[in-house]
Amino acid sequence: MTYSDGTRAVHAGLPAPIVGEPFLPGPVFAAPYHLDPVTGPGENGYARTEHPTREALEAAIGALEGAPTLVFASGQAAITALLLSVLRTGDTVALPADGYFTVRAFADGTLRDLGVKTVLVPTAGPYPDFTGVRLVLLETPANPGLDVCDVRAVAAAAHEAGALVAVDNTTATPLGQNPLALGADLVVASGTKALTGHSDVLLGYVSGTDPELLGKVETWRKQTGGVPGAFDCWLAHRSIATLDLRLGRQSANAAAVAEFLLARDDVSGVRWPGLPADPSYPIASAQMRRIPGVVSFDLGSAERVARFLTAAKLIFAATSFGGVHTTADRRAQWGDDTSPGFVRFSCGIEDTADLLADLAAALDTSA
Ligand SMILES: *Cc1c(COP(=O)(O)O)cnc(C)c1O
Repeated sequence: MTYSDGTRAVHAGLPAPIVGEPFLPGPVFAAPYHLDPVTGPGENGYARTEHPTREALEAAIGALEGAPTLVFASGQAAITALLLSVLRTGDTVALPADGYFTVRAFADGTLRDLGVKTVLVPTAGPYPDFTGVRLVLLETPANPGLDVCDVRAVAAAAHEAGALVAVDNTTATPLGQNPLALGADLVVASGTKALTGHSDVLLGYVSGTDPELLGKVETWRKQTGGVPGAFDCWLAHRSIATLDLRLGRQSANAAAVAEFLLARDDVSGVRWPGLPADPSYPIASAQMRRIPGVVSFDLGSAERVARFLTAAKLIFAATSFGGVHTTADRRAQWGDDTSPGFVRFSCGIEDTADLLADLAAALDTSA
């Protein structure tokens, strides 16, 4: 029996029912566990390598991504673990030119110092010949510009050249797209955003079906130790139960917000991959199962963004995205390569009419 997304999210990673026990067992707080004094290490020895709460979360995310999964203390811990377990001196890695900026900064520092070359490729293409490239990391939709790429086509070209393909699935979440089914070898993501969605947890993960590749990442994690704690794993697992519901409302809000902004002549550069006129629409509508709740647009200046966010009552100024509260972030303040008035707008799960009314009022006040 194959279930639909809402059912899969609610049941992901739950243990078989035990009478008198909770549906989702509570967090296990342990560093070492009791050992059998005679036989020594059994199922659980030390929490950096074995942890039941963490393993339940990994089962949940793994069920949604469709592959064995390793969770990390943050998205960056997961992405750098993947890069450092795959790449060696003399290798070349292809990274998105318009993706998450900390990944580029890592490549420009640590990877360069290790003798790993980086090729930056815009998510919307054109894609270069991948001859000599060891790993292609894609981010689709890209944060914050929301361009998308054809994972199937890029993966085929990369595999032809002997490169591995990883996709950062943060913005889409595994209910938005399944990169492994589209031909990617690995998924990396920040679970800090829409996957957990309550703005209270840092989390990352790597998923993949190749046991040797995932084994390298697991050894990396075991030896460098970037595991999430028990309570964060439990919070994340509890939150995933509502992923389908949250995405449904966020996506509906984003559709309404994008249409509303398009009709205003004091807002420019409106991007949402679900808008039929958006450059991302043809590929996004073919490869994604749903479009995330993130919209981007330009208010022309940093001052107008500040007035807009001061006037808004339901739109919180915050970085990150994908949470249940609507937030907006002027990306240039973090050094992202965007114009001063560029806003990444993350729709929460508020009622659509309330959100649109607040958006309209704040735009009018700030004009
Ligand atoms: C936030 C983010 C990351 C980093 O995740 P953290 O959990 O903040 O470490 C990586 N990739 C993308 C696309 C992100 O949005």
